[in-house]
Amino acid sequence: MGKSLDPQLRAALASRIRYYNDLGIYDFYRRPGQTMEAASVGAEHATLPVVISSPAKSAVTESTSKVPVATLHTIREDIGECTRCRLHKLGRKQIVFGVGNPRAQLMFIGEAPGADEDEQGEPFVGRAGQLLNNMITNGMGLRREDVYIANIIKCRPPNNRTPERDECETCSPFLMRQIEVIRPKVIVALGSIAAKTLLAINASMSELRGRWYEFRGTKLAVTYHPAFLLRDPRQKKAAWKDLQMVMKELGLPIPARNTD
Ligand code: SF4
Repeated sequence: MGKSLDPQLRAALASRIRYYNDLGIYDFYRRPGQTMEAASVGAEHATLPVVISSPAKSAVTESTSKVPVATLHTIREDIGECTRCRLHKLGRKQIVFGVGNPRAQLMFIGEAPGADEDEQGEPFVGRAGQLLNNMITNGMGLRREDVYIANIIKCRPPNNRTPERDECETCSPFLMRQIEVIRPKVIVALGSIAAKTLLAINASMSELRGRWYEFRGTKLAVTYHPAFLLRDPRQKKAAWKDLQMVMKELGLPIPARNTD
């Protein structure tokens, strides 16, 4: 007690604890009579110096329930106060990471944060977000918190301009990591920028919609971006068709109504 740790050992311990956190292990204890140094040495030699403290909790359940959250947290930490592309100096207020259920079966991926998202730090919270919520709840019979929502890029482009290709390429690896952690059953790309970036194909929305793509072991469908639907509500019927295709894949009941 009271003895300060060697900085190198402290760093090694912090790294080891983070590793265990990523596995879903959060509670640690020291064996009676064991020093911190001995415990850390034991960890290096994998003699299981770190155990889950509550025997009532199954290690498997604990681990399974916390891995996605812990790992998304790690990805967010890795992004940090990112300056990897020019958008960091073009007026962004904050990074918009993504929101929703880390175990979601359904993931929506849009293009980029807008003004409201930049302000609130959450994707799809403005008018387009309200329409997306409507599509999720009234259309699909789900709740917003059942799905996961993210964008190709995490910082708002100035004046909501279309993200540049190099910005998408620089930022999208973080999204790929989020997808790997969440492992959704279905991804819905919202709009052509999201679809083209994910699928690496250059095609019109009419060519991209209405079919399934294989994307890193996940099924991917393309539909209109809600912001586009606000500008051209006549396309809502087509978007509803896309959602029905997704609902069928997810085994969701399809009500006889539309998303107006
Ligand atoms: S858009 Fe992505 S890569 Fe560019 S600064 Fe923001 S977080 Fe970093």
